[in-house]
Amino acid sequence: MTPPPVPIPQSDPAAVFDAVPALDGELRFDGATLEAASGDFGRMVRQSPAAVLRPGSAEDVATMVRYCGERGVKVAGRGQGHSTNGQAQVPAGLVIDLGSLDSVEIRDNTAVVRSGARWSAVVRASLPLGLTPPAFTDYLELSVGGTLSAGGLGGQIGHHGTQVDNVLELEVVTGEGELTTCSPTERPDLFRAVLGGLGQCAIITRATLALVPAPRSVRFYVLTYPSVAALTAREAELIREGRFDYLIGQARLTPDGWTYFIEAAAYDASAADDARLTDDLGHTSAEVQDVDYFDFLNRIAPTMELFKSLGEWARPHPWYDSLLPASTVNDVVMETLAGLKSGSLGASAVILLYPILTAKCRTPLPVMPDEELAYLFSLLKTASPGADSAEEMVAANRVQYDATVEAGGRWYPIGSVPLTTEDWVHHFGAFWPEFRAARHRYDPDGILTPGQRIF
Ligand SMILES: Cc1cc2nc3c(=O)[nH]c(=O)nc-3n(C[C@H](O)[C@H](O)[C@H](O)COP(=O)(O)OP(=O)(O)OC[C@H]3O[C@@H](n4cnc5c(N)ncnc54)[C@H](O)[C@@H]3O)c2cc1C
Repeated sequence: MTPPPVPIPQSDPAAVFDAVPALDGELRFDGATLEAASGDFGRMVRQSPAAVLRPGSAEDVATMVRYCGERGVKVAGRGQGHSTNGQAQVPAGLVIDLGSLDSVEIRDNTAVVRSGARWSAVVRASLPLGLTPPAFTDYLELSVGGTLSAGGLGGQIGHHGTQVDNVLELEVVTGEGELTTCSPTERPDLFRAVLGGLGQCAIITRATLALVPAPRSVRFYVLTYPSVAALTAREAELIREGRFDYLIGQARLTPDGWTYFIEAAAYDASAADDARLTDDLGHTSAEVQDVDYFDFLNRIAPTMELFKSLGEWARPHPWYDSLLPASTVNDVVMETLAGLKSGSLGASAVILLYPILTAKCRTPLPVMPDEELAYLFSLLKTASPGADSAEEMVAANRVQYDATVEAGGRWYPIGSVPLTTEDWVHHFGAFWPEFRAARHRYDPDGILTPGQRIF
């Protein structure tokens, strides 16, 4: 039994750490480290932890979770801090900076990865052996633990599902400080509640990831469409057919008004037959290029560097990400775009609109709409100078969330929306009883990941 929590002294939150046992890594209290763990990519929520653990081993994570549990101190894992709403923050608690656990080992057709490793490191390690993870996010500098806690959606979803669908085994530390492994056959309840589980039941310390043969090069197409309906209809056909290995879409405001793009890739450029792949797609224009596979996966990195140089990276990012059923997607997207004003999105905004075959997403989380075909619809906003304030954008996100729910959609929980407990219960839907039971089983004192504000 866990002893009752001892209150944290308000005057010096770090005093609670004065009896920490020997660790392989280090516990940090210095201002620079606390400052770095106090913010995130969203730049809207700032909460300082009392201490930051840079673990030298998974055992360190277990030791400190047990230590904190005995004292009623909250704990969260942190990967790259690229969430947007304080999800990896713990006011006056312990942040575990998993970046110090970042090894990647390729064993047979798997990658055995410490959870702080970035996806760029995973693919750099696997490619020399001709292998690759099958599913990616569009940015590779996110941690494995961070995206596996969210879900990990990307353009390979039509063939391979989400990143969490491609995990074979996890090593985790539960909220009780137990270091254990789980998989589809070993403690499957824990496995199901951790993948996409927003850090509520355990901290991931290691993941065994499936690998598949990697292409050397990619033929990459950008095809233009004149309307939302034209885009989504074509995307629906393409994802059902599986014609491309990678498929996403975007809406962009151009000098000619809203324009819609499919970005599609055929792996192994030398085998790609342009006529077979694109002649019947009804696009109004096309760009085609052959690119090295890694450069293709990493292709938004230069844009992120540009955003950094322009100062946009350091501004608030009140992102909104939703999953809409095919039956309502056009209405919601058209209404949303029509309602946007010049300052609604900011200077470096991206609007994603791409299809998902929900049956390919086999893990219960992230929760998908209840239709065979769904769409990711994301409004990746930046509160740039002259645009709406971050607070106004967050308020607009809440309105968008209500419209999403009304349309039978779900939230993809990486962005910034103020949600109540009732909203979360609705969000998890049929999986809520299982998720809540797992939380009570594996984190009975409720110390893990308070920044998600679910329990
Ligand atoms: C530029 C950019 C592009 C993105 N593109 C995509 C995309 O294409 N597809 C997509 O799905 N998402 C995308 N995201 C969102 C991203 O996947 C999530 O925000 C992800 O959680 C961030 O990973 P991180 O390592 O920064 O996690 P953090 O922000 O550090 O943590 C996020 C949450 O996960 C928890 N957590 C972190 N590590 C662990 C762990 N090891 N065990 C348990 N809990 C943990 C934290 O406590 C926190 O609650 C993008 C984000 C950015 C900034």
